[in-house]
Amino acid sequence: MPLLIPCPTCGVRPYGEFWCSGELPDGGHGGSDDAEADFERVWLKRNVAGLQTERWFHHAGCRRWVTVRRDTLTNVIDAQL
Ligand SMILES: [Zn+2]
Repeated sequence: MPLLIPCPTCGVRPYGEFWCSGELPDGGHGGSDDAEADFERVWLKRNVAGLQTERWFHHAGCRRWVTVRRDTLTNVIDAQL
């Protein structure tokens, strides 16, 4: 069964309609005064085995960003954030 992404505008759609931007780092994409911490947060991925928050862009649909929580072991999306 293919990975299905719940889009708030278009409904549940196959992952091929989306571009994945990867995991959403803790604290989002905003910067801070600590350049070393910003570098690690943006460029060093945690690559977790389990639940992680991700951003997906629905390029073949509404062209909006979707934030979901996906289990990387089972590909099950358990929440749309
Ligand atoms: Zn959509």
